[in-house]
Amino acid sequence: MNKTWSVEEHLDDILRSVRPLEPIELQLLDAQGCVLVEDITVPASLPPFDNSSMDGYAVRVSDVEGASEEFPAVLAVIGDVAAGSGELPTVAPGQAARIMTGAPMPPGAEAVVPVEWTDGGTGKGPADSMPARSAAPEAAGGEVRVHRAVAAGAHVREQGSDVRAGTVALTAGTVLEAPQVGLLAAIGRGTVRVRPRPRVVVLSTGSELVEPGGELGPGQIFDSNSYVLTAAARSAGALAYRVGAVADDADTLRAAIEDQLIRADIVVTSGGVSVGAYDVVKEALSRVDEAGGSVEFRRLAMQPGKPQGFGLIGPDRTPLLALPGNPVSSYVSFELFVRPAVRALMGVTPVRRPAVAAQLAARDALTSPEGKRQFLRGRYTPPQEGEELGTVRPVGGAGSHLITALAQADALIDIPERTCDIGPGEEVSVIPLV
Ligand code: AMP
Ligand code: MG
Repeated sequence: MNKTWSVEEHLDDILRSVRPLEPIELQLLDAQGCVLVEDITVPASLPPFDNSSMDGYAVRVSDVEGASEEFPAVLAVIGDVAAGSGELPTVAPGQAARIMTGAPMPPGAEAVVPVEWTDGGTGKGPADSMPARSAAPEAAGGEVRVHRAVAAGAHVREQGSDVRAGTVALTAGTVLEAPQVGLLAAIGRGTVRVRPRPRVVVLSTGSELVEPGGELGPGQIFDSNSYVLTAAARSAGALAYRVGAVADDADTLRAAIEDQLIRADIVVTSGGVSVGAYDVVKEALSRVDEAGGSVEFRRLAMQPGKPQGFGLIGPDRTPLLALPGNPVSSYVSFELFVRPAVRALMGVTPVRRPAVAAQLAARDALTSPEGKRQFLRGRYTPPQEGEELGTVRPVGGAGSHLITALAQADALIDIPERTCDIGPGEEVSVIPLV
């Protein structure tokens, strides 16, 4: 009799065989969620030039010294500076330029007076916004009354105040989320070197399976596993390709897998790994392939998910994980084994979902088979004010066909091999799935 593997032994075996993917250069948006493999040095300072942080008037400080509403400083408006303006007027003593947010500071000006501190060039009281040009035809060539003094640099965003040229803004190992993608764009990077998202090919097996949207014949069921696994692969950060259901025929299955190897960094199958007469995954993949790869089928001390297959196949030694067909077993196996493998390929850590301690809800008690690590479905409530631990409540039973309960759960309750009974209020380990 072959040995029974623990969950940890099986996972360690998988992770030992999985190396992070070779980095490639990707467009910024394709690199979202990926791990950066280069330090990013800022080529030119941000902002690239001194610019206004307000709509207002660019002035010389000495011209507005002591200005008040009662005794405004009256300045000649020599022109407009909008964001993107290339040619800038020079502001001489006694002059001001209308300036918009983000527009470069014109030479001569030292500060910006917000439009609200002026009459907006209208000759009337304080302005609450910058009048459109048509509403203040006198703006350029006219004059503005400034009601308050400003210090040098007021309302000016200084060149390099965000980041200076030559600074390392992002270091290798950073996972690129939206703000990091934004920074890369802001410093002018169009592409970036990252570890790519692993391509996960998902095949389900079973002659009973019908594509959702179709009609069920006698004894048939809809193929849900290939959808669950594809969706879970995406959530894990992978690019997932759903091949769909392959009939229970070893040659057909082998051919289907071989066809997919070209685009797969990892292959995931569901079904056909137990000891039934039509367990074709086992039949198709137990043999050593032409390139010397093979899949080993094992029994794990685990429930659900006892039968599992893992191996490296084809010329590129592509990892293949053969998961059991029962829907809950299949999904739990994905979370425990495929997700860590996907994350290892991406080079992100931690590869496993973190577990938390929680209290079993007051009215619930659990029993678990001796010698098996059990993963029950549960709903987890994080600690409330004043509580040290959150609580978890089991959803549905242990049956590995209970798809509805799985869909209502948001956590796995992880019960160790040796634990058989857990009473209400006792502490358990929970793996939140969100
Ligand atoms: P198997 O491991 O192939 O014997 O499948 C075990 C159980 O899971 C059987 O009841 C199958 O009908 C069911 N099953 C297998 N594959 C799928 C699938 N892709 N979607 C839904 N149920 C499945
Ligand atoms: Mg089957």
